[in-house]
Amino acid sequence: MDLTGKTALVTGGAAGIGRGIAIELARGGANVVVADVRENPKLEAERNRGKTVDIIEELSGDALFSECDVGKEASVETTVNKTVSEYGGLDILVNNAGISVPGSVTELDRKDWDKITEVNLTSVYLTTKHAATHLYGSDAGRIINLASTAAFEGTPQGAGYCATKGGVVNLTRQLAVDFGPEGTTVNALCPGPIYTSMSQGTFDDPERREIYEEHVLLPYFGEPEDVGQLARFLASDAARYITGTAIPIDGGWLASR
Ligand code: NAD
Repeated sequence: MDLTGKTALVTGGAAGIGRGIAIELARGGANVVVADVRENPKLEAERNRGKTVDIIEELSGDALFSECDVGKEASVETTVNKTVSEYGGLDILVNNAGISVPGSVTELDRKDWDKITEVNLTSVYLTTKHAATHLYGSDAGRIINLASTAAFEGTPQGAGYCATKGGVVNLTRQLAVDFGPEGTTVNALCPGPIYTSMSQGTFDDPERREIYEEHVLLPYFGEPEDVGQLARFLASDAARYITGTAIPIDGGWLASR
């Protein structure tokens, strides 16, 4: 899946799934802007591997880090402008940054609700709004939004997470309508359990891990790079006729629920 000459902006690209996506896009030959609130991953194993930009440069790729809070419009605008001034355009926008704030509706206070909405959903509006004219200028613009299997089901303590991920899936469909005539595809990826700093607490809790093991049908869990490879495919010309979809990458999680 050749992405030579393309420029990608990956939010939350410093760690976890975003990092897996950034690396795979760079392996395809894309220039990658890693946009994140922090450059050093929280997970020790990821930190030990180095920063995303350094990993990409070791692969002879081209990448730069841009400090960015995806919930803040001025910050998003600065990062989009930096991308375009450094690489001359923007072809692939990956809205990956996300957080989990566990709680039911009665447990979450308004501040938590506003925070998860801002980072998981409002961010997609903000980045897309500022990237739009640049994506229109691309031969084959791509928007890839990270939703979740939680977009299609209710989960315990998942009020904010399920609501925002459901919102991401339907915003993806809506954006596909607006961007289609411009030749830009818009799709959502819906991962199941992938070990990252976000899911670490669940994976490390024997009882909750058992639920993961029961519903993931394969004898292994996915890695950030698995999601990265799907993103690389969607970013490529091979996926030119795919838009408005929400694609599970979940080891069979949804099939078994
Ligand atoms: P992670 O916590 O490992 O990484 C998230 C990254 O986003 C971090 O680098 C973090 O610094 C960054 N980030 C957080 N808030 C930000 C902000 N306001 N602005 C910019 N960057 C910010 O999480 P992950 O598991 O890699 O999750 C990535 C995406 O995948 C999220 O949207 C998440 O909801 C989704 N997802 C994850 C799983 C899973 O099992 N890990 C499953 C389904 C969906």
